[in-house]
Amino acid sequence: MTMLNVGRPTRPQALAETSHQSLTGARGLLQDEALIFEMDGWNKTGVDLAPAEHDASDLGDLVRTAPIGLPGLSEPEAMRHYVRLSQKNHAIDLALYPLGSCTMKHNPRLNEKVARLAGFGDLHPLAPMATTQGALALIDQLAHWLKTLTGMPAVAMSPKAGAHGELCGLLCIKAAHEAAGQGHRRTVLVPTSAHGTNPATAAFVGYSVVEIAQTDDGRVDIADLAAKLSPQVAAIMVTNPNTCGLFERDVIEIGRLTHEAGAYFYCDGANFNAIVGRVRPGDLGVDAMHINLHKTFSTPHGGGGPGAGPVVLSAALAPFAPAPWVVSDGEGFKLVEEPQGEAAQAFGRMSAFHGQMGMFVRAYAYMLSHGSDGLRQVAEDAVLNANYIKARLSAAMTPAFPEGPCMHEALFDDTWLEGTDITTLDFAKAMIDEGFHPMTMYFPLVVHGAMLIEPTETESKQELDRFCHALTVLAQAAKAGDVDRFKGAPYLAPLRRLDETLAARKPRLTWRPEPASVSPAPIAAE
Ligand SMILES: *Cc1c(COP(=O)(O)O)cnc(C)c1O
Repeated sequence: MTMLNVGRPTRPQALAETSHQSLTGARGLLQDEALIFEMDGWNKTGVDLAPAEHDASDLGDLVRTAPIGLPGLSEPEAMRHYVRLSQKNHAIDLALYPLGSCTMKHNPRLNEKVARLAGFGDLHPLAPMATTQGALALIDQLAHWLKTLTGMPAVAMSPKAGAHGELCGLLCIKAAHEAAGQGHRRTVLVPTSAHGTNPATAAFVGYSVVEIAQTDDGRVDIADLAAKLSPQVAAIMVTNPNTCGLFERDVIEIGRLTHEAGAYFYCDGANFNAIVGRVRPGDLGVDAMHINLHKTFSTPHGGGGPGAGPVVLSAALAPFAPAPWVVSDGEGFKLVEEPQGEAAQAFGRMSAFHGQMGMFVRAYAYMLSHGSDGLRQVAEDAVLNANYIKARLSAAMTPAFPEGPCMHEALFDDTWLEGTDITTLDFAKAMIDEGFHPMTMYFPLVVHGAMLIEPTETESKQELDRFCHALTVLAQAAKAGDVDRFKGAPYLAPLRRLDETLAARKPRLTWRPEPASVSPAPIAAE
């Protein structure tokens, strides 16, 4: 058995032992958990309600005659149910979460504390503006710093995710082309390595998507871009640093060629973490770029949100930005809901209100607590950490682009697994047994069996060492032919290997009582 440098065995105690089944389905102190509907508590409630004073109903024959079928749990039961469920999931608060392209970084508790201040946390979106001046000032300040950090003159704050921001940016571009009599431009160019949301967004807006090839060193192929630019092209969408974790060295040339062809340069800024404080996308010729506050500025994400994807815009696109936005005059701050004059070209709105206030507060707290030197150090440390991983793992695994440094994420391919009968997926599953959440797998698509590792700047050298050591030992086991360890993994997770395709294609999204196991009793009339 190999030992980790911290003295822990890297191999599950003895694989045979893990076939031990407990009577209860629990694993140690981690309990098995039924669905809330299966918990046999139909006749219970956690609160003691006085009988209604008059129960005459105006609903006539619409009055419910059968029980509604909601599970009944006492407060401690409800509490435990959700805490147990939370323990079955991985979280950045538990351990390293090296999911490339996702920037799973620590969300400082200061952010949480500030977001919970009553003046922010308890606001209603329809509260009169006279009572929400502080919140509007915060949106205005955050907008100011986003424009400053990106070197762009305008920002749309209301999009609620990165993909939502992409949609906002492309709708601005579409509106700008239409206003200039260029509505016939129906194509968007996207590199082969793009995040899936880029072509999806372009298609959603009604554009046809044409791929741009990639060079052998993982960058946009400029010759191919030049060949595909035409009077039909509305925009290009380029991620920088790109999803191979590499800086697009020719980004200025990309912008120049794009503008020369009358198209706009959309930059996917989800990876701003790698360059914040070091590079201003506005200086690179970018026209629109979304920023994932839930990545770069540490606000929580996962489980589908909430996120925030403000979009910075060039002067050419600014007049088309969606309402609402904050302005200030002698009388204070105002949210402009109905654009007038030049601003009346706004393409519409992205959401009912002003955006994700809770994320704004967290991101602003993060910016202020880091300061400009701290934000620059975020980018420097994120890149340093990724390069440390790339350097330490390059002997055991094969970096997809060995030449030169990477940016904030280290990308490996599966060449080093050749002949082992072990796949990227098997390797990732074995990482779970070692207490490490897998990296992003099989993305970007242009790299065979891709393993994309993003440590972020919030991990210490000790944690990176622990991670690299575990992966090195696992890689040695793979090359030594210990196939079972990988094919059967995870051995120690609450559920073993799932049929992910089936789960994605035929998800079971509704629960139906199985007559034998559950029988909601009629509501007891006392
Ligand atoms: C995360 C990400 C997105 C999408 O952001 P969401 O907030 O998940 O919609 C888009 N592009 C890149 C490169 C990303 O990493």
